[in-house]
Parts: sequence; structure tokens; C-alpha cells
Amino acid sequence: MKTSVIGYPRIGDLRELKFASEKYFRSEITREELEEQAKKIRLHNLNTQKNSGIDLIPSNDFSYYDGVLDNAFLFNAVPERYTALGLSPLDTYFAAARGYQGEKGDVKALAMKKWYNTNYHYMVPEIDDATEIRLVGSKPFELFCEALESGIVTRPVITGAYTFLSLARYKGSKKAADLAEQTAAAYSALLEKFSELGAEWVQFDEPSLVKDMTADDIQLFVSLYKKILPGKKNVKVLVQTYFGDVRDCYREICSLDFDGIGLDFIEGKKTLALIKENGFPKDKVLFAGIVNGKNIWRNNYATTLPLIHELKKYVSDIVLSTSCSLLHVPCTLRNETKLPDDIKKHFAYAEEKLSELSEIRKTAESPLPLETPEYRANVKLHEEVRSGTNDEVRKKVAALTEKDFVRLPEFAERERIQKKRFGLPLFPTTTIGSFPQTSDVKSARKAFRSGELTADEYESFIKGKIADCVALQEKIGLDVLVHGEFERNDMVEYFGECLEGYIFTEKAWVQSYGTRCVKPPVVWGDISRAKPMTVKWAVYAQSLTDKPMKGMLTGPVTILNWSFPREDISLKESALQIALAIREEVLDLEANGIRVIQVDEAALREKLPLRRSDWREDYLDWAIPAFRYVHSGVKPETQIHTHMCYSEFADIIKDIDNMDADVITFEASRSDLTILDVLKENNFRTEVGPGVYDIHSPRIPSKDEIKAAINKMIGRIPAEKLWINPDCGLKTRGNEETVPSLTNLVKAAAEARNENS
Ligand code: GLN
Ligand code: ZN
Repeated sequence: MKTSVIGYPRIGDLRELKFASEKYFRSEITREELEEQAKKIRLHNLNTQKNSGIDLIPSNDFSYYDGVLDNAFLFNAVPERYTALGLSPLDTYFAAARGYQGEKGDVKALAMKKWYNTNYHYMVPEIDDATEIRLVGSKPFELFCEALESGIVTRPVITGAYTFLSLARYKGSKKAADLAEQTAAAYSALLEKFSELGAEWVQFDEPSLVKDMTADDIQLFVSLYKKILPGKKNVKVLVQTYFGDVRDCYREICSLDFDGIGLDFIEGKKTLALIKENGFPKDKVLFAGIVNGKNIWRNNYATTLPLIHELKKYVSDIVLSTSCSLLHVPCTLRNETKLPDDIKKHFAYAEEKLSELSEIRKTAESPLPLETPEYRANVKLHEEVRSGTNDEVRKKVAALTEKDFVRLPEFAERERIQKKRFGLPLFPTTTIGSFPQTSDVKSARKAFRSGELTADEYESFIKGKIADCVALQEKIGLDVLVHGEFERNDMVEYFGECLEGYIFTEKAWVQSYGTRCVKPPVVWGDISRAKPMTVKWAVYAQSLTDKPMKGMLTGPVTILNWSFPREDISLKESALQIALAIREEVLDLEANGIRVIQVDEAALREKLPLRRSDWREDYLDWAIPAFRYVHSGVKPETQIHTHMCYSEFADIIKDIDNMDADVITFEASRSDLTILDVLKENNFRTEVGPGVYDIHSPRIPSKDEIKAAINKMIGRIPAEKLWINPDCGLKTRGNEETVPSLTNLVKAAAEARNENS
């Protein structure tokens, strides 16, 4: 048996790529310096994999921003508004990724979307009727040759043709099928080129195959590969799937001329059954995803080895691999210097997963697998009781009944009460919570953590920031204020640090999008709230203003979705435990005079199962109640807001309304405003604040631009239900963009108010 991984994290062990890229964006380093840093990371990754005994090592898993965006550039699917700027190739690429505002023009970034059921985001390729898919790029070839020079024949990784076409947004009349012919030709050309260069394998990532597929989808997939695969000459092609099983097209995959099939045995509920029921083609290699690419726990050999044993009955040629790219886990435990060893020994980040693969291979190939020292050590590790059990929390969760999930009185009555209480103007303005985390905030936090600042000094620093932030918002003229979230490094990590049962890491960074990384905390034991987490800050902020100050919390589903979850209890159980803790905080805020409380569920949709048939039972049936439980105990006059990143909830619109919040804000500025029609069609009752400008880009929206967005919303949303706000928190922005942007927002809202009242 051989070993392989689907992809390796590209940010660098210490986020070197992030820092270099950001310096490049600020013109502090040259392109050459950025490229040099990138190359260093790539070579380090290759050597790490090689030294860990991985046989088949990927290349082109590196990206400056996003792999799907790379694919759009590789295959000429780049909107003209970016190429027309006349920038260098790298800057054109970054313009599409981040937007561009400068002497050469003013363009927004491409849309960004969540990558399947992960917290990674990809850039959505745009295809219009003029798009001509052709092989025009050279990055995969260059990276293959670069690795070759260092002595490693890699397996280039390319987003597969079906997935690429299924992820694209079609701006003209042409649809995916209309581009099949040219796309297949382009991919075929790519294979030919790799064959010439001496690649042994090429990997086409096709995660879209694990989603529900219609007959037309299957037809498109088959027709694409019937045309692509003849181009392969001497190169072998691996079709790599992940994030689920391929129940809709397993037979088609088997009958196509692939040389390798990559299947996910971690999230693929039916993967093993598919093989048992249909067999596995004799002439193909199975790349078996047995090491979890999404979680940080050590692999349990006592379940993995029997699985391999079972597979061997059906498959003659097995490569042991990860369940998905290791992009979704942190790089290495080596830099985790502060965690105690008896915690760390339960963890495996990307680098440690490489050794697991080697160990599993060794164990599986041994004549007496259960006798190997590796196996024994692993069994012993998993037998240890590691979780801090909290019986009281478990009892409370077990005792929850239907009425605990219902807030009374019902929505319309509360809306009346709250309109009266707050007396807000038409189209009230607000922000999503965080204000720019400028370098002074970051250095103060760092100084506090290292002991350079005392707790008192840090507290008065944060209070100063809050006071400035409140004054700024009053000056700008916003209606419902926020404290700015300066005390938080991250909307989940902050709560993880405040909750019992969580463990937080030092260096476990995972790429979220572009140069943005997150450091998910780890659910280690049962969760409970030891002490108030946000009350102090909210109360202080409220004391500075008569305007309503939003208490700002993260919801249980998002906290869980952005953590590394336990594998020994269900997600439902964990979510309800967290809900218990957040509910206590909500009630505490209310008791301390906070009148508006926002419970962010930015990641609610994130873990929605990829297949519709799994939605209710596996997810919504506990996720929505967990949120409802958080606020079901507040008074009618307390206004509950929630916020979601991304507006893709058309298909779960009823569930969103059923969260029973009073107001929801969400991203709507980058995607078209179709969500507004959906809200209207469904008589959405929650008040809404669809974001009027994109905070992910450094562009400053003009007042007229914002006004135009508001005008589109009026007419689709009853005026008395419409809020005006940016589309997400402002923490990644600078003050120089934030102040003029919010000023324009308030002006635009005032204009709209005048015209409509
Ligand atoms: N309240 C959070 C903030 O403003 C929400 C962030 C998010 O939606 N990702 O930062
Ligand atoms: Zn958001």
C-alpha cells in the first residue's frame, strides 16, 4: 500500500504567506519577495511530506488566494473588468480576489462563497457568453517542475471540470452544458502537457460529485470526462471526491477511464456500502480517505484498521489517504509550545496526520497488526478518559422540553412592543458589531497576554477604545450602536476562552479565505459558563450613550461550527450545552440593562449537510432549536438580533424565520439581490438588514451606490422591516475606509428616509 494526501495547507506553519501577501498589498515588499516566500513554503511542504514517508505528494495545492480562482485564471474564465485594468498578472489576480480601487480603475472583487460544508471560502468564477474556456495559464506546470527540480515527482491537483463548471456563476445565457465542449478540450490539453512533463498522476478534485445530482448533472459529468480522459496519454488520472459519498454517480465513476478513484470514508456515510454493493473496478486504484482532514483528533486505529481489512476484500490496489485536503486543519503541532503534552498527544494536525498515514500503512501491512507498538500505543491513547464530564450540564440538556424552545409572546406582538419602546426612525442604521482591529488593539492584547500590560491597564485601554467607538458612531449618526468588540481576537475563540470545556491553541491557524485565517478552539469536555463573558463591556458601552447599545454574542451553532468538535458525543449534544451557556449570558445582559442583544449565527449554514435528504434529521432539527433556546427566556421588549454571513439561505428560508429572532442582518451586497425576492415570496416576518456594502473589500462605497442598493431593497421588503447596515463586521478594515463608508451609509439612509416618509 502507498500513502498520499489530497492537499497540504499552504499558509505556512506560522502563516508566513499571509504576512508576506499583506505586506505586498501594502507595497512593503516586492513581487519577487512575495514569490520567494511562497516558494519557501512550497518546498517546505514537499519536504515535510517526503520526510514523513508520503509516497504520492500533491503539487499545485498551493495558491496565493484560492484554488478555484487559480483555475479560473488557468482556463481563461476571468471577467474583462479585471484584465482591462492593465495590471501585472499577479495584480490582476489579486484584483479579482480583493477588488481594486486605484489609478487604473475601480472594480469589486468576485463573489466569495463557502466551500461546501467547511469554513473555507472560494472565489466564484464568472462565466458570460463571451467566455472562452482555454488553457492559458502555466502555474500548475511551473509548480510541477519546481518540485521536480527538488527531486519530487508530484501529483498536480486541479479543480475538476465538473466541479469547476458547477461552481461558476453564469452571467449570460450560456449554462454549464454549453461550455462542456471547450472545457473538456482545455482539460484534455492540460493532461497532454502533464504527460509531456513526465507526471505520473494528475488529480482532478470533484467534490461536487458528493452533492445530490440530477440526471442532467450526471450526464454532464460523464460527457466531460469521456472527452477529457482520451488526452491523458502516459499520465494517470485520479478523480478525487471528498466531503461525502458519491451515491448518485458511483457506477458512472467506475465505468469511466479513470486510473484512480478517491473516496471519503470519514464523511461519506455510504462509501463503504457503495463498494460492497457494486464492487470496485479491478483496473483502478482506490485512494481511500481514512484520515480525517477536517478534525484535529488522533486517528483511531481500532476503527481504521478493520475498515482497511474490509476494503481489501473488494479492492486490490489501495492508497491510504486523507478524507479531504489538509487545508482544513492547522499545519503542525511543533509550534504548539504552551499546550501540555497530555492534551497534545490527542491531537494530529496536518504534519502529524502524515505520520499517522505512515503508521497505519505499516500496521496494516504487518503480519500481526494488533501486535505492533504503534497500534498498541494508539489503543491505549483512545482508552484514556480525556473529557471533563459535567453531570449538571448533561442533566440540564436531558431535561429540555418543547416549551424551552419557544419565546413568548409571538413575533408580531413583540414587534409592536419593541417599535414603541425604541422609537427608531424608518430604516434604522446599525453595524454588525466589530470595528477596525487596528494595530494598537492587537499590540495591547499581545502585551496583556505576555504580562507587559496588567489586567487593569488592558481594561482601561479597551474602555478607551470603546469610548472612542461610541463617540464615533454618535458623530456619524448611527441609530443602534455597538461597542466594537475590541476585547475579542475572534468571535468564536473569545467565547471558547471564556467557557469551561474549551481548549484554545496558540498556533492552530486554518485558512478561511485569502489571507484570512482562523484559530478554531477545541471542544474538549462538557461546556459550561463559568462567569459572565461580555456583560462588563456591554454595560460600560451602554453607560456612554442613550442610544440602544447591542450586546454582542456568538450563537451556539456558530461556536460549534467554528470549533474543532468532539467525536465522542453528538454535535447536537454539544450545541445544546453551548446554548445553555449563551442563554445564561443573554439573560445576564438583559438583567444589566442591555435592551438589544445580537446573537451571531454567522456560520449557521456552514454545516448544513450537502445532501438535502440529510438536512433535517442530521442538522436543522437540532441547530434551529439550539438558537431558539438561547433567547426564549428574554422579555418581549428585549430585541434579539442575529447576523449571518452570506445570504444563501433561500432554501432554508422558513428555518431562518423560525429562529424567531426579531431582526436579522446578512450579506447581500456581493451576490445579486435575489434573496430579497425570496424573502418577499415567503412573507418573511423577521425584520431584515441586508448588507448594503461589502466589507471584505477595501473599497469605499459612495453614498449613491449605497442609496441604489437601498432602493433595490425598498419595494421588496416592507419599509418598516428594513434596516440599513454593512454586510459584516468591520474588524478587518481600517478606520480610513470605515469612517467614510459608514458616513455614506448614514447619509444614504437619511435620503431614503426623506423620500419614503
Ligand atoms: N459580530 C461579529 C463582527 O462584527 C460578526 C462577525 C461575522 O459575521 N463573521 O465581527
Ligand atoms: Zn458576517
